[in-house]
Amino acid sequence: MDGTDLPETRSTCPYCGVGCGVLLRPDGTGALAVSGDPDHPANFGRLCSKGSALGETVGLEHRLLTPQVDGKVTSWDAALQLVADKFRRTVAAHGPDSVAFYVSGQLLTEDYYVANKLMKGFIGSANIDTNSRLCMASSVAGHKRAFGSDTVPGTYEDIDEADLVVLVGSNLAWCHPVLYQRLLAARQKRGTRIVVIDPRRTANCDDADLHLALEPGSDVALFNRLLVEIVQSGAADAEFLNNTRDLNAAIEAAQSDEAAVTGLRESDIASFCKLWIETEKVVTIYSQGVNQSTSGTDKVNAILNCHLATGRIGKPGMGPLSVTGQPNAMGGREVGGLANMLACHLDLENPDHRSAVRSFWNSSQLPDKPGLKAVDMFRAVRDGDIKALWIIHTNPAVSMPDADSVRAAITNCDFTVVSDITSATDTARLANVLLPATAWAEKDGTVTNSDRTISRQRKVLRAPGQARPDWAIIAEVGRRMGFAEAFDYASAAEIFREYAALSGIAGQLGRDFDISGLSKLSDTAYDTLEPQRWPITKDRRGGRFFADGQFFHQDGKARFVPVTYRPPAAKTRPRFPFRLNTGRIRDQ
Ligand code: SF4
Repeated sequence: MDGTDLPETRSTCPYCGVGCGVLLRPDGTGALAVSGDPDHPANFGRLCSKGSALGETVGLEHRLLTPQVDGKVTSWDAALQLVADKFRRTVAAHGPDSVAFYVSGQLLTEDYYVANKLMKGFIGSANIDTNSRLCMASSVAGHKRAFGSDTVPGTYEDIDEADLVVLVGSNLAWCHPVLYQRLLAARQKRGTRIVVIDPRRTANCDDADLHLALEPGSDVALFNRLLVEIVQSGAADAEFLNNTRDLNAAIEAAQSDEAAVTGLRESDIASFCKLWIETEKVVTIYSQGVNQSTSGTDKVNAILNCHLATGRIGKPGMGPLSVTGQPNAMGGREVGGLANMLACHLDLENPDHRSAVRSFWNSSQLPDKPGLKAVDMFRAVRDGDIKALWIIHTNPAVSMPDADSVRAAITNCDFTVVSDITSATDTARLANVLLPATAWAEKDGTVTNSDRTISRQRKVLRAPGQARPDWAIIAEVGRRMGFAEAFDYASAAEIFREYAALSGIAGQLGRDFDISGLSKLSDTAYDTLEPQRWPITKDRRGGRFFADGQFFHQDGKARFVPVTYRPPAAKTRPRFPFRLNTGRIRDQ
């Protein structure tokens, strides 16, 4: 068959949080031709080598094609009944907190929504956490402390319009290549300056005007120095500061820090501060070098403090921008994939929020305290407090910190279920039950990228063997646990409409995440949904947040957070003599 005769389908690259649009053309024999979508606002047709090679990922080698129990092939009926019975009996015998889901930024939003609803709304525990915890929790916490919500203020267009881009702990050239191409295009067009703040010399440094190879973990001290310089040089935006609180406390903390701990030359620090202060259109992009740290949240707030002080936030070409690693890390944050959040940026600990969600879901119980976060969850598995665990699209036996102990914990867990597309992972090998899930090109749903753009991922290939979409697997377990009505979903579109309707309630409660404008999408409209940035309401579509000075704390004001440098353990505790950095391999 000549593949060029088959229609192209618009979908989204499943590799990283840039969220590039792709055009997929199946050849009718299982293979797939892939090109960049010229109309997608994240990439305008560009792809990196990973996205370009997506067609090579659709083979069936190592695919899990049938459910298995204790290594033996079984029917869906038997496997799902076993999972439902084990979870129900464990909850009945030991309480809701004796079970847990560990999910992943690889899940589509609709999958995430159903998993979160089952655990928080019907099992009655908040023990669901996502592997995005490991990379994004610092940004979530930093945003919430400063803004009162986990809101990404800016957009990718800000990179195109900035005169200075500061990359902090971000190897953008390798980890988010298409955004890096946008940055280089801006540099060519308008001479955008680039500063790299990273202990390592990375590929970004080839294009940088200044590389600040600071001591690992000393970012807070550097941005504290910048905050002090902003204020002392008169660069603070007095009018914008009326929309904020606690600047003096932040300055006092900043003044107590010594920039010398960064190990940088004073002249380089001075050049950086001067450039930042004198350039109005500045975007600070940060990633895992900031987030994955014992002081990650403080690093985030040290950066946000500088943007708040100058009012350079949510305006064209300026603002902080946290870039996510996994394709749907952002969707997981929005949908309540974290153990301390409800869906739609609603708060577990807020009684009004809980009551709204409980009534919307018509659920009899909803936890009023956060569940176990990733690291604590596996400690609880190790200690026998969690007796039934469902791991979905992630490989914690390899990817969690202290992986040996996580592996031992899973091995000793009474009952472990793994949903994945392959049985060839270290975690899958430890599972009692393996459930075959559909892969990225075989499933329908949505993802959200780093700048709040929601895009459709579309099914273009038949599900192989007996593989099923994750939302369908989780919903069926929910029905078999006794929650038939709540999990009576027929399609991803139906789940999305429910999610969008719940977000409308969140919007009424003053939350940022509101996509209620999509709550009445027909199936056809869902099928043809264009990429679009939230919020999406009857009054508002996309755009930036906070240029108007309105934040999501109760009083509407942003908060400066006083932070001070905390040395890594290697500096203070002889037991930990090394400082290690992580990084990604290009094109892996
Ligand atoms: Fe895919 Fe990320 Fe590359 Fe875009 S930048 S093509 S989303 S891996």
